[in-house]
Amino acid sequence: MRRPLVVANWKMNGSFASNSERLQSFLALWKGVHQAEVAVCPPTVYLPQAAELLAQSNVGIGAQDVSAADEGAYTGEISAAMLADVGCQFALVGHSERREYHAETDVMVAKKFVAAQRHKLTPVLCVGETLAQREADETLVVVGEQLKAVVDLAGRSAMSSAVVAYEPVWAIGTGLTATPEQAQEVHAYIREQLGSIGAGVRIVYGGSVKPSNAEELFSQDDIDGALVGGASLVSNDFYSICQAAE
Ligand code: PEP
Repeated sequence: MRRPLVVANWKMNGSFASNSERLQSFLALWKGVHQAEVAVCPPTVYLPQAAELLAQSNVGIGAQDVSAADEGAYTGEISAAMLADVGCQFALVGHSERREYHAETDVMVAKKFVAAQRHKLTPVLCVGETLAQREADETLVVVGEQLKAVVDLAGRSAMSSAVVAYEPVWAIGTGLTATPEQAQEVHAYIREQLGSIGAGVRIVYGGSVKPSNAEELFSQDDIDGALVGGASLVSNDFYSICQAAE
């Protein structure tokens, strides 16, 4: 039985004041014991604030990125050890915005994945195809290669303590969502690629998830939750998505 997981990716949004308001209004709704696990990934500088605000709750925190290196002369980088030190449980790796705007390759993503696990963070490995790749019928090949790069470096068993996020690039922040059937097809493929351990690995969907489409997506056999960008900035919407995962 895989526990549903909903992760908020705030991207580069927030301030001390708005983070506090957003988290407090979410916590006022998300009370008690839940079947679904929830985590929030604020901008790195606000991780200690989020850790403090969420300390008495069952909501976890994660980073939006992590360095492949452990320490040293890497100006601007943040190591997995530092993220663990401020209380993170999760780290996104290979988000399409990192792959696109920061030229992160499959191999770099794999190194970040390994660095996260070295410091007991759960990597949320983001994979997904562009629109051109989907239209060229390359979706499964692209996703398979992104996954293979990590499996080759980390070993397949490492995937047991990771989460995979299938995020079609064309659906991120665009309002376009993969249909439940499109998403299910890729999730089932990812699970199959993971072989005997696949059944236990959580695979979440990301790409314009909102209250109106969450339930249908989560009803698919291989969709175990969501990575939520835009809608996670609105507490009521994020709460509704979390509820749909219960
Ligand atoms: C994301 O950034 O991972 C994401 C899924 O964004 P959005 O929900 O806004 O499409």
